[in-house]
Amino acid sequence: MRLMVKAPAKINLTLDVLYKRPDGYHEVEMVMTTIDLADRLTIEPLDENKIVLDCSVCFLPLDERNHVYQAAMLLKQQFNIDKGVRIYIDKQIPIAAGLAGGSSDAAATIRGLNQLWNLGMNMQEMADLGSRIGSDVPFCVYGGTALAKGRGERIELLSSPPPCWVILAKPPIGVSTAEVYGALKAEQFKDTGKSKQMMEAIYRKDFLAVCESLSNHLESVTLERYPEVRLIKEKMARFGADGVLMSGSGPTVFALTDKESRANRIYNGLRGFCKDVFAVRVLGGNNW
Ligand code: ATP
Repeated sequence: MRLMVKAPAKINLTLDVLYKRPDGYHEVEMVMTTIDLADRLTIEPLDENKIVLDCSVCFLPLDERNHVYQAAMLLKQQFNIDKGVRIYIDKQIPIAAGLAGGSSDAAATIRGLNQLWNLGMNMQEMADLGSRIGSDVPFCVYGGTALAKGRGERIELLSSPPPCWVILAKPPIGVSTAEVYGALKAEQFKDTGKSKQMMEAIYRKDFLAVCESLSNHLESVTLERYPEVRLIKEKMARFGADGVLMSGSGPTVFALTDKESRANRIYNGLRGFCKDVFAVRVLGGNNW
């Protein structure tokens, strides 16, 4: 039996950092949604009792440093599985980009192995296990659109946002999430109320209100360090985006528009400037 599992990227429609917790994590509140830019995992049983990874890009580690390996190992240990597995990762999501590529691969591994090994876990159980690998993994287990609280692992599912185009551009830099959070000063922590505003906009399927509610607390930190991120934001706005925001800790910036002609203009305008440019649709709902 061979399984193909899709691992879609996410974008942050909002991200508020509320405060730093005694355990060192930041308490966040964010609305996230999955988009039609995805890695594809091929999972197949292996006679030998080991985890073998392979990947379409050569610069990702294929050992216990890979989130896919960590997810497979976690399930083997949790359920005393003495079978092996081979997982091929067809990598399409840019790495260290603020799009949760690694987290989504881990979530897809959990969903895939739950099926391959007949583990019988429900979504909540898979999300709980995933939270041991990373804060974004529970959201990626569910997919769709959700409000995430806590360190990102407490998920409240939302309805789909209004359909629109998402044009993403990633400058050729990798940003460390820990570094960006670390640079945020205590006086910058606050609840902007934008997540609530975003949830209302999504509920009303009001595209312009979604654009007006876009907000990311980490953006100012990354913009200050990497001027090229600001430049991309400015270009996207100039090419006609209805809303523009950096995703997660960056450096990927996305533009939203509900008009295909504008999506084309933004995509073509950015392509000469950045290598990693994508024009995709919001997936919105959970599609597995
Ligand atoms: P987030 O938005 O959750 O912060 P990100 O998109 O910024 O995530 P990732 O692409 O998940 O970042 O990569 C972060 C780090 O995780 C990289 O340094 C990378 O080497 C490591 N990593 C481990 N496994 C994977 C994987 N399967 N895919 C991508 N990165 C991985």
